[in-house]
Amino acid sequence: MPEKMNAGPAEQSAPAKIEKLAAVKGMNDILPPDSARWEWLEDKVRALMARYAYRNIRTPILEHTQLFVRGIGEVTDIVEKEMYSFEDRSDKHGDHDHLTMRPENTASVVRAVTEHNLLYDGGKRLYYMGPMFRRERPQRGRYRQFHQIGAEALGFAGPEVDAELILLAVALWKELGLSDWRLEINSLGQPDERALHRAQLIAHFEQHADLLDEEAKRRLHSNPLRILDTKNPAMKSLVESAPRLIDFLGAESLAHFDGLKAILDANGIAWTLNHRLVRGLDYYNLSVFEFVTDRLGAQGTICAGGRYDYLIGQMGGKPAPAVGWALGVERVLELIKEEGAFGELPVPDAYAVVPESSALPVVLKTLQALRSAGISVQMHASTSPGGMGSMKSQFKRADGSGAQFALIFGEAELAEGCVAVKPLRGEKDGSSTAQTLQALDDVAAWAGMLRSSPMV
Ligand code: ATP
Ligand code: MG
Repeated sequence: MPEKMNAGPAEQSAPAKIEKLAAVKGMNDILPPDSARWEWLEDKVRALMARYAYRNIRTPILEHTQLFVRGIGEVTDIVEKEMYSFEDRSDKHGDHDHLTMRPENTASVVRAVTEHNLLYDGGKRLYYMGPMFRRERPQRGRYRQFHQIGAEALGFAGPEVDAELILLAVALWKELGLSDWRLEINSLGQPDERALHRAQLIAHFEQHADLLDEEAKRRLHSNPLRILDTKNPAMKSLVESAPRLIDFLGAESLAHFDGLKAILDANGIAWTLNHRLVRGLDYYNLSVFEFVTDRLGAQGTICAGGRYDYLIGQMGGKPAPAVGWALGVERVLELIKEEGAFGELPVPDAYAVVPESSALPVVLKTLQALRSAGISVQMHASTSPGGMGSMKSQFKRADGSGAQFALIFGEAELAEGCVAVKPLRGEKDGSSTAQTLQALDDVAAWAGMLRSSPMV
């Protein structure tokens, strides 16, 4: 394998040594047994999305940089400083593509929906899961490669779909055993309403210019609403005394917001109105919401979303309303850990002990039949060539695997066309420890007895 996969011609002549075999800063490996928790969460999400009739969409990780600049907005943290962008090698016409690793998935979903004309026959409900990339300062709950699960409902205008999405998230928290969260909501109204508010907001901040930090000064005229989203505690009171967007909303916007609140109330979902909730991305209007927890320190937002009725049109598609949310998988998993709600980790039903390597052909054939019958079996395999290892070490591994049963493919048993099935956990849980003999040619008849409780 070449040492540097992407080396251009110049680098190739002087192969660079890999200094340190370590993952890139802020990007993590997801290893067993943790990966089983990821799968557990993903399975729950898939099942839940199916119940709400949301369908899976998978878009490429690389997109044209322009997609995110236009879709997310130039004056945002993401576009200003967090994107992993590069110039692709030129194609045969000598053109260079400017590409970016997706920092979020909504812009790509909108692109795909437009490119494939998915809204031709009405709205679409979609969900995605996968890695996103932002060059942020890595810390607890904030990584450079992180994962989002998102749901988007495109082509629907009413507050009932905003509510449906929030109810979907609430159902997910319930499935995951999470109760330590709260829902914050706000309405950003429509662009003309925001323009009125914007003028007063700028005036308010200008009156207290001495209290603004550098970032706020920079955003004062480009994106003053974003100042409300500041994480700087020194600006807290200034932001709290700022004019409230809700006071600038007209009847239609308020009715939309009331529609959402009425459905939440009817479903017994507590919410708080957060006037400072404006979201980091430019494209939102009307409802915005966040699910927040106090259990995760500074990175307490586990899920965030809102309505973006102008994005599709702004990106060149036929204008259509839309609403969606994205949750941070790492943060949600961390919260599950805090609340202790994980299911049990997977263990094999059985562990195959193989005293002599001459038995291997029969062993693999039998295990194949067991696995076809739905039984999970871990086969003993030797770590060094020649021989299978002592029975003692094999049983130690069988025990360590967590399996309920050992299948012993001993010479004497095999001579009788059988395998010995030995319960491994009997002493611990009080069930039978009696070893039985089972016929190799009739696995279907006894496979079921090996099945232990499935992972919850
Ligand atoms: P924050 O204010 O924490 O930076 P954001 O507004 O940039 O969040 P969104 O773009 O709305 O985040 O993404 C939705 C969710 O994805 C967030 O609520 C969070 O749970 C998660 N998330 C965002 N950035 C990261 C990251 N760098 N590492 C881990 N999770 C993240
Ligand atoms: Mg951010």
